[in-house]
Amino acid sequence: MAASGYLGWDFSTQQLKVIAIDEQLRVIYEDSIQFDKDLPEFRTQGGAHVHSDRLTVTSPVLMWVKALDMILEKMKSSGFNFSQVRALSGAGQQHGSVYWKKGSAEILKNASSELPLHHTLKDCFSVGNSPIWMDSSTASQCSSLEKAVGGAQHLANITGSRAYERFTGNQIAKIYSQNPEVYMQTERISLVSSFAASLFLGAYAPIDYSDGSGMNLLKICEKVWSASCLDACAPALAEKLGCPVPSHSVLISLGTSDTLFLWIQEPTPALEGHILCNPVDSQAYMALLCFKNGSLMRERIRDDCASGSWDEFSKALTSTVAGNNGNLGFYFDVMEITPEAVGIHRFNRDNQKVSDFPKEVEIRALIEGQFMAKRIHAEKLGYKVMPRTRILATGGASHNKKILQVLSDVFNAPVYTIDTANSACLGSAYRAIHGLVAETGVSLADVVKLAPEPRLAVTPTTGVEELYRPLLKRYAELEQKVIYNPTSSCLAK
Ligand code: ADP
Repeated sequence: MAASGYLGWDFSTQQLKVIAIDEQLRVIYEDSIQFDKDLPEFRTQGGAHVHSDRLTVTSPVLMWVKALDMILEKMKSSGFNFSQVRALSGAGQQHGSVYWKKGSAEILKNASSELPLHHTLKDCFSVGNSPIWMDSSTASQCSSLEKAVGGAQHLANITGSRAYERFTGNQIAKIYSQNPEVYMQTERISLVSSFAASLFLGAYAPIDYSDGSGMNLLKICEKVWSASCLDACAPALAEKLGCPVPSHSVLISLGTSDTLFLWIQEPTPALEGHILCNPVDSQAYMALLCFKNGSLMRERIRDDCASGSWDEFSKALTSTVAGNNGNLGFYFDVMEITPEAVGIHRFNRDNQKVSDFPKEVEIRALIEGQFMAKRIHAEKLGYKVMPRTRILATGGASHNKKILQVLSDVFNAPVYTIDTANSACLGSAYRAIHGLVAETGVSLADVVKLAPEPRLAVTPTTGVEELYRPLLKRYAELEQKVIYNPTSSCLAK
């Protein structure tokens, strides 16, 4: 009999990725489908469609299904032995939602192995374009939800976060208010993660506590839906969501955005950031800060200032000095989540607003600004950088050592990476193994004992602590000036 294998999937914003590992947690297969390049018929950019209002952002649900068909086909033709797979698990971009039409459960259950899934499921979705995490079109639903439960802080106390536009409850409320018939035709609403699991299961997979914490609907302490939040969003919502379940079968969500995860014991929900149920330790919680203008923003500046080359981009970081001679910048092509701001804002060392920077200075201002914002907002949540602080960096940009050096310098802490930047896939594959033994009380930590230790990538440059301390203070003050004010004209770049 062939050795056992375990599959980890990541239905992320720009691509569908898969990793297979063996019993020793070694990666034995890795593959991906890039939505823009490999499925051009869906005409996405970065895996999504930004609508003309520049607030609505969706992805075609059948594109995700077709990507799964394609990647399975690729695995088959490369000779991957599916019979060795003992378990699989997956992650999905958070907040995105999928709307299954009445009668789809039957179609899903009876899907034929002869036909590609995207043919079988082509009429199964009442909403063809799924709202995703980049959407910020639900401001009015957010304010109604906060009002319905007694204010923003109260909503944060119940669900771990004040109302956020991308959070699924508000997205559902928008669909219900704009198109009640479509909502009524929907028998089940999945998150991207539970939708992906459903495709493998041939039945509706439940939503797990961790991913479910990103909906503004789950009581994070009792781990049940909040009736008042559900009622404020749409009628008869509980039956369309199914019961949430513990995270044994789930998910580490990482994406095209920059996200910061902090492990915490005591949840103290605030008006900024999110508290989520912890997928690894059911007694613990995690804080999450999401920055929307992450990789795509870096790509835009790379294209404008470094001829589209990461090498040239990195050289600019090497040829400029830490602290950028006091030049600071805020780079938000789309409305940022943390802080709520949009547009490009550059300041020279005297805090005067300037309209441009030399290319190298622009690149350093972008990267330093992105990491200073992370440190400032993590500290606002009570996080402290200690002498033993370690930063674990994953995702596409963690390949870039020069970017990691700036991260290390701004946080004055060493940065570690793992061999594969596809950490969400790998985490899912570990989770697949854990899924087989979780019922018997084995912890995830026990399962991953054999996993390679993260490797030290970079350490902070000597003396940067003193350099960045005043800059961080200035950055936090300037941030107040660029916060979105609907009456000003800061939309211009
Ligand atoms: P997702 O899981 O959301 O698809 P990934 O973790 O795969 O995202 O990261 C994709 C991003 O990684 C790309 O948008 C790209 O900007 C970034 N990236 C890839 N290589 C580099 C590099 N050498 N330097 C900086 N960024 C990079």
